[in-house]
Amino acid sequence: MILDLTDDQKAFQTHIAEFARTRIAPAAAVIDERGVFPRELVKEVAARGLLGVTIPAAWGGAGRDYISYALALEAIARASAVISVIASVNNSLVAEPIHKFGTDAQKQTWLRQLVTGNGIGAFALSEEHAGSDAANQQTVARLDEQGYVLNGRKVWVANAEAATVAIVFAATQPGSRGRGIGAFLVPLDTPGIKRLATPDSLGVRGLGCVDLQFNDVRVEADALLGGPGDGFQVAMWALDGGRVAIAAQALGVGQAALDAAIAHAKQHEAFGQPIANYQAIQWMLADSATELDAARMLMLKAADARQRGERPTLEAAMAKLSASEAAHHAADRAMQILASHGYRRGAVVERLFRDVRATEIYQGTSEVQRMVIAEHVLGESGV
Ligand SMILES: Cc1cc2nc3c(=O)[nH]c(=O)nc-3n(C[C@H](O)[C@H](O)[C@H](O)COP(=O)(O)OP(=O)(O)OC[C@H]3O[C@@H](n4cnc5c(N)ncnc54)[C@H](O)[C@@H]3O)c2cc1C
Repeated sequence: MILDLTDDQKAFQTHIAEFARTRIAPAAAVIDERGVFPRELVKEVAARGLLGVTIPAAWGGAGRDYISYALALEAIARASAVISVIASVNNSLVAEPIHKFGTDAQKQTWLRQLVTGNGIGAFALSEEHAGSDAANQQTVARLDEQGYVLNGRKVWVANAEAATVAIVFAATQPGSRGRGIGAFLVPLDTPGIKRLATPDSLGVRGLGCVDLQFNDVRVEADALLGGPGDGFQVAMWALDGGRVAIAAQALGVGQAALDAAIAHAKQHEAFGQPIANYQAIQWMLADSATELDAARMLMLKAADARQRGERPTLEAAMAKLSASEAAHHAADRAMQILASHGYRRGAVVERLFRDVRATEIYQGTSEVQRMVIAEHVLGESGV
């Protein structure tokens, strides 16, 4: 088993880390404060091929492997969690499923613009009563002679404030759960769509999360990505990649928290010496470093499985679960180590502490990841 990154992966990681340090990190606090989708910075991210990292060059993408993609997201998240999520939604939840399931015409219309930054993608699966229970879709797509008519409401749609297109999931056979859901490529300027602003969120502010209301939204039959009953499979396939991406994002945030804690522990003194001299502090740093590195191994394993074309459902769930919890612990310990110096609006650790929490909620809560893992552990027959 080879655990080393290739020279190309290392060079790409260094290149993106430098971009993140010089261009993204200085903007992170302002994005958080304003809570507005950072369109100009996202254009710079696109210019570096980071909105279509694994999409082949023939479609305008960077044509890189999944490990490189995950490394890039981790490096970006170390500077700004929200930029990392924006990129991961566009890559894993929109561009990748279009590349995998789309027709040539759909790729011509959407893929190139999404990966070059001329458009932004969103993924509209969740509803008020279809979060963890994503198969419980109440948004309906009714077929008539001119195509489909969509009615319903989607909640928490990241990127939607700025997105040009969303993959919208809707019941084509209401009541049939996962077997009767379609995935539709819907331009967000289609008549009948309303973006509904929602109250401010705790963290990852600037993600452009809005609710989407669909009132008699008409799309042609060729807006379907896959078959009329394939949508749930499209969503689950996309989420396999998305969970690897969120694991990478969580690791970047957790690493940033550990970095801040180490720097503070070395320079801040109590009882006449740096607090890094105290074993209580050392053990917190040691635990964070160990947990993050263990989760990083799982994340790389999942990214490698995805790259090899396997369904990494189990590996991705384990990676997301362990990385988001390791990062949460690292942010919590960093707050403890910085104490009053972290517990102020505007302190870096304060932002990381808020940003990290979402990684245990979106793209499947930690409970959902444990359900996925338990299903594999118990085998198909269950208990
Ligand atoms: C910042 C942010 C961005 C998001 N972006 C998107 C997006 O771009 N697109 C999108 O479609 N969605 C998005 N979401 C929605 C997100 O995917 C859902 O919030 C998530 O899946 C959980 O659903 P829920 O909030 O409805 O909680 P619920 O499903 O109502 O769950 C509530 C609690 O019950 C637990 N629970 C539920 N069922 C079980 C069970 N069977 N066993 C044990 N525990 C259970 C859950 O783990 C959770 O703790 C986003 C959410 C956030 C916060």
